[in-house]
Amino acid sequence: MAFQQPPLPYALGALAPFLSEEQMSFHYGKHHAAYYTNLNNLVDGKPEAGQTLDQIIVGSTGGLFNNAAQAYNHTFFWHCMTPAGGGGKPAGALLAAIERDFGSFEAFKEQFTKAAVTLFGSGWAWLAQDSQGKLQILQLSNADTPMKHGLQALMTVDVWEHAYYVDYRNLRAKFVEGFWNVVNWEFVDRMRQGGSI
Ligand code: MN
Repeated sequence: MAFQQPPLPYALGALAPFLSEEQMSFHYGKHHAAYYTNLNNLVDGKPEAGQTLDQIIVGSTGGLFNNAAQAYNHTFFWHCMTPAGGGGKPAGALLAAIERDFGSFEAFKEQFTKAAVTLFGSGWAWLAQDSQGKLQILQLSNADTPMKHGLQALMTVDVWEHAYYVDYRNLRAKFVEGFWNVVNWEFVDRMRQGGSI
């Protein structure tokens, strides 16, 4: 297998009650895993099998892009959440950057929540950073991802229905509200400083 789905950074049930073990079993164990299976089938015997996931995302379109980007997006999303010490407000330079570019943490939280809740259909809400270090919120459909737009991803929430339907049914807003309680600000800050997953 060219590409291996990375392990979850915590146990399947560790984010409960925000996300149940059943919800995560489907999301990580079925949906995310399927993107890796599809990706490996698509690159089998092709030059892309020797590329990195990032190279494929930047250089491909269609089904190959969709599966490579979804493989990446989900791994990124898992790291945005933590069962220990998550949520609340960020601190230090990350908080300062948020206040500089959105006015206040509360205004940022409101805008990001709105992007996640109002995204029509399937997709992802992202916090991203441009080459000048300026932060922005993106509402991206389907598998689209900041890397494809030359931006550094800092934080995301998956708002495909499969991300929350087991636990929240149609109540996407309730799922997004709960996300704020598990955000891994330490990871977000590491991405702000140019880190990678
Ligand atoms: Mn998903």
